[in-house]
Amino acid sequence: MRIYNTMTGTKEEFVPLKKNSVGMYVCGPTVYNYIHIGNARSFVVFDMVRRYFEYTGYFVKYVQNFTDVDDKIIKKANEEGRSVSKVSERFIGEYFKDTDALGIQRATIYPRATQVMDDIISFISVLVRKGYAYETQDGVYFSVEKFKDYGKLSKKNIDDLISGARVEVNDTKRNPLDFALWKLAKPGEPYWDSPWGKGRPGWHIECSVMSSKYLGDTFDIHCGGPDLVFPHHENEIAQSEAKSGVKFVNYWMHAGYLNINNQKMSKSLGNFFTVREILEKYDPMVVRFFMLSSHYRNPINFSFDLLDQAKVGFERIKNSVLKLGDLKGQAESSSGDNEIIQDITKEKQGFISAMDDDFNSAAAISHVFNIAGIANTRINVQSGRATINCAADTITELMDVLGISLNIKKEMLDEEIEKQIEERQQAREYKDYAAADKIREELKKQGIILEDTPQGVRWKRI
Ligand SMILES: [Zn+2]
Repeated sequence: MRIYNTMTGTKEEFVPLKKNSVGMYVCGPTVYNYIHIGNARSFVVFDMVRRYFEYTGYFVKYVQNFTDVDDKIIKKANEEGRSVSKVSERFIGEYFKDTDALGIQRATIYPRATQVMDDIISFISVLVRKGYAYETQDGVYFSVEKFKDYGKLSKKNIDDLISGARVEVNDTKRNPLDFALWKLAKPGEPYWDSPWGKGRPGWHIECSVMSSKYLGDTFDIHCGGPDLVFPHHENEIAQSEAKSGVKFVNYWMHAGYLNINNQKMSKSLGNFFTVREILEKYDPMVVRFFMLSSHYRNPINFSFDLLDQAKVGFERIKNSVLKLGDLKGQAESSSGDNEIIQDITKEKQGFISAMDDDFNSAAAISHVFNIAGIANTRINVQSGRATINCAADTITELMDVLGISLNIKKEMLDEEIEKQIEERQQAREYKDYAAADKIREELKKQGIILEDTPQGVRWKRI
């Protein structure tokens, strides 16, 4: 399996630290509002990565944080006259509503900044002791100049950054690039006690602390949205490697941007969409299908036209499986057509090769379309049940790997079948043979065959 590593700018063979196991850290949301569809793209993409690892037999430890204390949350809490924890609790709940709908599996652990405050304080203490951090009148800062590799992820030159940096009035920092590890509380702000006074952590330190706490000083994969490379991830590397003295992360993965009608999504341009707004109009599985129809690193353009096109594609795949379900009830032989089965197997191998090559879900989906094409043009009643099952099961399995459910009704339960048979018996008693036959046909479509015997009706699945 090969992964594009932002750090090296190349695709590399994936070698896990521990055999058959992957540690993944994904930067989670700051919970002060509903997530927008750009956020959702990243979460869908890394859920797809996780699912594929699991499909190929890896155990995945998936850690995603919630930033539950932050300037934006404090601002929102003050505006609404609520506490910071009320606001963050609420939007953690809303986050799960959206991501559950989009088929995003729950993380192994969801650490929250406010729950790891002791770890944050001891992490910063080490940085201060080692001379990487210093105290000022408003908090504790990381000294970027002390970390010689600063800029290695984003490929930025530290001198260029300094000359381009905005120097703020009354700034107490030694260098404009230095960033806050601990912010002393202003009146009315939430705070925690620390050796440097009452305050709260900076945003970057939270992720360094939470990732190493649950995954170790060095772990396999760190993921995030495209806007996090600089400064967030660059700062995480600086803090973590300064503290531990070892490599922080082996593979850095970043999702591409999501643009709206070829423009950057922004509230001021009026082209800003929350997931909630989109899910009022579209099936979440269509939204997920749309997002995974592009390579995860490419920018994607979002528009309602493109979403409608994705819906057509999604339905083409779904309809092919529905058609196969109908054929299954009509097929007279249980045998299979080897040539067709081989072609389906080849498409499945194509899907796997595409996914092995840096999770190319766009190419992988094209193989699912090919199987749907085979189902629509080459499979009929004469193809045999083995062929029909192979096509239907393969499409469903591969869509499942991508976390896309086709929402097709699962097999009927025994009691539902018994109920239908009873209704058919009643129809026969009333000599309504048309209704009785209709029930028999409907059951046949679901793969249930009825046999009238002197002892009564028997049924079997085919
Ligand atoms: Zn982060």
